[in-house]
Amino acid sequence: MSGSRLVLATAFLFVLSACSKVYVDRAAESGPAPYSIVGVTVVFPERDRDNTLQDATVIIHGDRIEAVGPRDKIQIPLGTARIDGHGKWLIPGMIDGHVHFFQSGNLYTRPDAADFNAMVPYAQEVARNKARLPATFKVWLASGVTGVIDVGGPFWNFEVRDAAEKTAAAPHVQTTGPLISMVDDPPLNSDDPPIVRIDTPEAARALVARELERKPDFIKVWYIHRKGDDLPKQEAIVKAASDAAHAAHVRLAVHATELEVAKSAVRVGADYLVHSVFDEPIDDEFIALLKQHHVLLCPTLFVPNGYRLALSDQWQATPEEQRLADPQILATMHDIEKMPKDKIPARIAKLVADKAPVPAPKVSMANLKKLSDGGVTIVMGTDAGNIGTLHGPSVFREMALMREAGLTPLQVLRSATTNGAKAMARDDLGAIATGKLADLVLLDADPLADTANLSHASRVIKAGVVYEPQQLIDSIR
Ligand SMILES: [Zn+2]
Repeated sequence: MSGSRLVLATAFLFVLSACSKVYVDRAAESGPAPYSIVGVTVVFPERDRDNTLQDATVIIHGDRIEAVGPRDKIQIPLGTARIDGHGKWLIPGMIDGHVHFFQSGNLYTRPDAADFNAMVPYAQEVARNKARLPATFKVWLASGVTGVIDVGGPFWNFEVRDAAEKTAAAPHVQTTGPLISMVDDPPLNSDDPPIVRIDTPEAARALVARELERKPDFIKVWYIHRKGDDLPKQEAIVKAASDAAHAAHVRLAVHATELEVAKSAVRVGADYLVHSVFDEPIDDEFIALLKQHHVLLCPTLFVPNGYRLALSDQWQATPEEQRLADPQILATMHDIEKMPKDKIPARIAKLVADKAPVPAPKVSMANLKKLSDGGVTIVMGTDAGNIGTLHGPSVFREMALMREAGLTPLQVLRSATTNGAKAMARDDLGAIATGKLADLVLLDADPLADTANLSHASRVIKAGVVYEPQQLIDSIR
């Protein structure tokens, strides 16, 4: 501590001790002093009608919402700090239901998809992602995302969750451990691999048991089914994982991207499908299965295109990514242009030369619309960390595609708030109401008029603490 700081601290202590003891005790009990947001339009994404309240006051005390109501009905305690909410909209903090902290979104983060080890060894990328975690947390908050679910990574994921719990400027993090996988993925192997190949129900139970020791929020299965694979044999492995998870009251998240495989996953107990079906139009049987089993579905529309764009060197940062993504990652997205030709894998060199058009994912978008119309609970999620899908502002790419698929702005916002809280099984998140956690985003434009307005946050509040998005990003430059 420097000399001048010491003087200040001493002066502060003197002021505190001069105050009445009652004041000090109350402050210690209830955390920071209350403040209010005044004149704001509050948005209630959980409601089908009357889903806004204009000219409202919201009082925040400590980490909770203490009161919400019309400005003329809510009395603000004297001396309470105020944030002017006139001309602004207040939404619950958003939740991304599908992320991976062991990946960064850059070109070096998935050597199984594109082997750039000759440029950046994978071990170096893994170490970078670990060291950069505090910045990655801030990127999420800057985008208005106050909760994320990491649906698969190394056992290090549990340290990520611990770190987030101890860090104010971090989203709430839920996590799974390593993926229970149908296939090997040697390029990602290490002493703490994100993906573990499992061949028998016994092995599945053993891995689930190891993960349960760390109290995961989900168990995750990577249900990869290739032509010629024995589906009943694979299903028995998924069922073993499912039964073991459920016996411990832990839910099962499954990656299954083909209709037949997704149905199989639901039949044996999947609670959360983290992808839409990509391969063919879904049918009524699938929708009925999802509803019967109360399965939540995260469509993750953008992620395949993120790979295609980045690996053909056609990826371009959106204006939101330019403002809100990790500057270190943005700076590397076009590294292919700087690489010596002999360091670029032949397959990637061909993608770059061809620059094939990357159309919107029509099948999964049409399936999303059918699922939504059919009454399935849709959770917004990006699969952030995969190549081309950056932590934080990729939520705006994802939500734009959901809108393009035919969901209304209200449905999109609900998927990112109300339904995100359902995915996290947290009834204190995802809504603006008395007693809920004060996770909020103050927007400069109406999110129910245009989904794109969700990127115009002037303040992000997590557990009562107020942040300015631009300051968060400036602090990690
Ligand atoms: Zn994923």
